[in-house]
Amino acid sequence: MNPINIFWSSVFFIFGTIVGSFLNVCIYRLPEELSIIFPLSHCPNCKAKIKWYDNIPLLSYIILQGKCRNCGKPISPVYFIVELLTGILFLTAFLFSSGAAEVVFRIMFFSLLIVVSFIDLKHFVIPDECNIIGLVFALLASSFFPHLQGEAKWYLGLYRSFLGAVTGFAVLSAVSLAGSKLLKKDAMGFGDVKLIAMIGSFGGVLVVFLSIAISSIVGTVIGGTALLIKNKTWKGKVPFGPYLAIGAVVSILWGNKLVDWYLGLF
Ligand SMILES: [Zn+2]
Repeated sequence: MNPINIFWSSVFFIFGTIVGSFLNVCIYRLPEELSIIFPLSHCPNCKAKIKWYDNIPLLSYIILQGKCRNCGKPISPVYFIVELLTGILFLTAFLFSSGAAEVVFRIMFFSLLIVVSFIDLKHFVIPDECNIIGLVFALLASSFFPHLQGEAKWYLGLYRSFLGAVTGFAVLSAVSLAGSKLLKKDAMGFGDVKLIAMIGSFGGVLVVFLSIAISSIVGTVIGGTALLIKNKTWKGKVPFGPYLAIGAVVSILWGNKLVDWYLGLF
């Protein structure tokens, strides 16, 4: 890698960790219906304001050894994980995209997926705000930059994005309906159906089907492992949103390669 690439890779990673620290605020406050701008960050335990020098992404958590400077109570490692994950995904978006529009498009997509996944893991709910913001952003971006959807005309870019959203919504609604008929209980939350519509608006039809396929495989592996090692907190309790998000990231970055590899098997 040449020095310029190393420089920009570092910039995107650091920028990612800073955005990650904002995503933490969204993850913490959106489900509680609190403002994501005010008040400034404070310790969830002792309510002490967090000083700027204790709010440096990744570093502060390591320096303070995961504890509040004021009261000494442990701070959830989720904060650190979200900052690190956002940094890695921003770096990946930079390395695996061509052109500024595509990098911004994917950075927005990955940020929304992180917020949705961590809220779903904690509260078993996917906030509508995230799906709506994502859908509107993707439809607009696909019209202004149709090449994001592999098209040259604005209305074709918009059409691809819209078609992805509708396909995702229709396919997962059908799966959900069939599942609840078969299992005689709700197989899948409606939040997941809206999430796959948002994923489809970013990635189009191919990403919808790949995301569902990959998330089913990942879900089966993790669910099966939980059954084998008899982990009670995992068993049947992990929501589907994070699986869909993993599927979406993999398929938007490597979707075409996956299809080529799959077709090459025959
Ligand atoms: Zn504290």
